[in-house]
Amino acid sequence: MTRICLLILVLPILSFAQTNFSFSNSAFEKLLKGDYEVSSLEKRRVIPDASLPTWLQSQLSPDSLSVYLQKIIAYNNRNTINDTITEPDKGIRGARKMISQYLSFWNSRSNSVIEQTEFSFDYPMCNKTRHTEIMGFVPGIGPNKNEIVILEAHLDSRCEDRCDILCMAEGAEDNGSGSAMMMELSRLLSLIELNRSLLIIWTTGEEQGLGGSRSFAVYCKNNGIKIKAVFNNDIVGGIECGKTSSPPSCPGPFQFDSTHLRIFSSGTTNSMHKNLARLSKVLFENNKNINSSVKLDVMINEDRTGRGSDHIPFRENGYTALRYTSSYEHGDGNPAQAGYEDRQHSTRDVLGKDLDGDGVLDSLYVNFNYLANNTFVNAVTACNAATNVNAIPQIVASSAGGKIIIDVQNPDNIAKTYLYCIRKITSVYYDTIIKSTDTHLEVTGFSTFQYYVSVLAEGEYGWMSMISNDVLVRVTNKTTNPIKNLDVVELIQNRPNPFDDFTMIPILVNDISKINTAYLNILDDNGKIVERIQLKLIEGMNEYILELPYKAFSEQYYYSLVINGKVMKTLKMQILNY
Ligand SMILES: [Zn+2]
Repeated sequence: MTRICLLILVLPILSFAQTNFSFSNSAFEKLLKGDYEVSSLEKRRVIPDASLPTWLQSQLSPDSLSVYLQKIIAYNNRNTINDTITEPDKGIRGARKMISQYLSFWNSRSNSVIEQTEFSFDYPMCNKTRHTEIMGFVPGIGPNKNEIVILEAHLDSRCEDRCDILCMAEGAEDNGSGSAMMMELSRLLSLIELNRSLLIIWTTGEEQGLGGSRSFAVYCKNNGIKIKAVFNNDIVGGIECGKTSSPPSCPGPFQFDSTHLRIFSSGTTNSMHKNLARLSKVLFENNKNINSSVKLDVMINEDRTGRGSDHIPFRENGYTALRYTSSYEHGDGNPAQAGYEDRQHSTRDVLGKDLDGDGVLDSLYVNFNYLANNTFVNAVTACNAATNVNAIPQIVASSAGGKIIIDVQNPDNIAKTYLYCIRKITSVYYDTIIKSTDTHLEVTGFSTFQYYVSVLAEGEYGWMSMISNDVLVRVTNKTTNPIKNLDVVELIQNRPNPFDDFTMIPILVNDISKINTAYLNILDDNGKIVERIQLKLIEGMNEYILELPYKAFSEQYYYSLVINGKVMKTLKMQILNY
């Protein structure tokens, strides 16, 4: 019997409070609140005008990334608890010290500012409660300097046993790659005069339940720290697919992809996290100053099945956050399963192999050009978040005579262009983007369906505002009155379809007062119900993420919407790689 079920992803809510926060740099708490004089800061030479993306690209160096990563993995085991005062040059403590020395060096250059601190907190992980992570702060100089854009990557590594401090845990890809990226970003971004402030964090305790990021997110919430956006980077340098990889998986062994970067974020419609993810892709594909071969994939879910990372605690504490991750992964990170041969969470997560025994690595598992491209994505999306001052557009949208009509209600004099973004309600990303200097747009050519419309504003240098809310628009043909004759509820085709892991099933409720009970039945090829899911519907659009955690045994399934005991509609869905 095939098992197919809807999993409600519930993250563990920890019963203890994160406490006893402290900073080694006593000025840091004021910095985080923007409580400093801009005149006391060194003037930086790089300004975020239209040439910034080209400057960033010219300065970004795969060779620097390679040097940093080799230094990071030389600590052999960066387990969260491999951190003792008596051995300051070893383990994760040694890696932190190395990063600290680099930050000091970069801060000492003329036309560069990066302050640093160690942040310590109590959070039980393995057999230790007190932990420390390092962060660098690039102070903003504009009117929004009290708002922070966070770039983060976990510095800690692990092998098969998550508390083992003696094994070889180089963690080259997971997450030496992200940690090296943070070093390169520190080097470059500390030279730029930005409106908002940047905070670059090398977190600890990611592998033991996200303890480091959770503690800092709680600190920020407790202290009213304003965070504009969080960009988490975890596993961002590998291009090879392993035998196992957490769904949504890659195609299998000996397959490579160095062109795509995935963006995971929480929510679907009107989710600020998903809007940040979409904004990253819009910016990359529509800012004429950005010339990059990287393709960004906006993923449906907050993370891969059964996995998590340091963006999640920030989302849990009310901040807008996303995760960047390689397109292909070498392993699902579960070394306990029989026959696990992949590299993630094992002693095999090393930089590469010396095939001919000459002491030089011939085959690298981290691709530095790919890592440099992904660093560029972070640099421009973080600079955009730290720069843009456009108001988020407030819009109204409607449909008449087959047209979609959109109006921006709060035009400002900073916006030079508006990007009108339209997607079918079953699409995670926009199907149509139209640029216009007008605050009013009428477009035709859409088929009869429901669409989400949203708008963002672009300033003179190509920096873009956050995306407006999604407004639901129903396109009908000319003869139908869109209000009359509506069904109480409409079941809409899932997307993606076919799918191999997650799919989203939209259900549009037009009159909630007529609904007493609602179920979604999942049926196999023979029409037998394999899962019955009780739905809590609201009026308007409902989106159910259906998860297929086990390999299905059939190519197709059906789903039925049952309202007040009556089957309203049944649709077919296709499974990939069953
Ligand atoms: Zn990781």
